Amino acid sequence: MSLTKLARAKVQQLTPYQSARRIGGQGHVWLNANEAADSGEFSLNCERLNRYPECQPPQVINAYAAYAGVAPEQVLVSRGGDEGIELLIRTFCEPGQDRILICPPTYGMYAISAETNGVEVVEVPLTDTRQPDFDGIIARLDEVKIVFLCSPNNPTGDLVDQAGLVRLLNAAKGRALVVVDEAYIEFCPEHSQADLLNDYDGLVIIRTLSKAFGLAGIRCGFTLASPEVIGLLLKVIAPYPVPDPVAQIAAQALSDQGLVLMRKRVDEINRLKTELAGRLEQHAQVKEVFAPNGNYLLVRFAPGSEMFARMSRAGIILRDFASKPGLADCIRITIGNPAEMDAVLNVLQEEQ
Ligand SMILES: *Cc1c(COP(=O)(O)O)cnc(C)c1O
Repeated sequence: MSLTKLARAKVQQLTPYQSARRIGGQGHVWLNANEAADSGEFSLNCERLNRYPECQPPQVINAYAAYAGVAPEQVLVSRGGDEGIELLIRTFCEPGQDRILICPPTYGMYAISAETNGVEVVEVPLTDTRQPDFDGIIARLDEVKIVFLCSPNNPTGDLVDQAGLVRLLNAAKGRALVVVDEAYIEFCPEHSQADLLNDYDGLVIIRTLSKAFGLAGIRCGFTLASPEVIGLLLKVIAPYPVPDPVAQIAAQALSDQGLVLMRKRVDEINRLKTELAGRLEQHAQVKEVFAPNGNYLLVRFAPGSEMFARMSRAGIILRDFASKPGLADCIRITIGNPAEMDAVLNVLQEEQ
């Protein structure tokens, strides 16, 4: 008898998240996971590795609060933004009973985390202008505990309209949490919704060091919310979620010097992105370049599968979104370093 039969029925039915890492591929130019092309240099003090770390290392919490312009009581640090998403679901949703709401096409982990925890997913697709359908969401607020929005949205790049968000926050008061995932906000910081945190207790913002800070390998993310919500999440989080070396590196990344480096990286990525978008728009096989607000461009090719195969033959690994609703022929290209962008452009230009 297989041990699989001992697992929870829900788990037996699950398909694991198809992360860029798991899909893999053969290549030397990795532009499929929105990682940065470099990380930077850090030093580690290994004298206290015999001790358990703090649950919420104060040097990390204080540095992130200062950076985000919020109070330390409004910050939770976790193993990546993904753990923040999972903790919200585990804290607010009763398995087999409560639901979350998502607006596809969007980041895959909201639905994966919900399903893993026996929580159902209500889908209210993005509108034709790729905004959340605020009226559609408000109409279903009584069915759900958490609404997940993503701004800039992965993979389409669009920003959530603030007037619409405020309307939703007012309607959701005392009924549901509204999460705005800002994993890519450093690439367009003027569009953060963090200034609404003090006015809306039910607003939650997800952040990460994986993208603009170039630290996907350390697994460090943040949840910003009212002290009441943070207090609830702290009841559910593991006792030692942040390894001490991670806390040391995060504190260095969030120092004044670290922030200068991050902003330089962002400027360079935004410059390369504008250049690539301009070149793509002139190309006969490109039908559409989506909103350029993150460290990636979603591009509709004609046809997409042929372009994906051509890139792949040249050793360039991208992420194919063709199977997602409304994204036929769409491929997401992470902005890498100048040499990697040249490699992409070279493939585009050949056999035109
Ligand atoms: C990358 C990403 C995250 C979080 O990533 P972590 O590496 O777990 O911090 C969250 N949301 C979106 C939309 C992302 O693209």
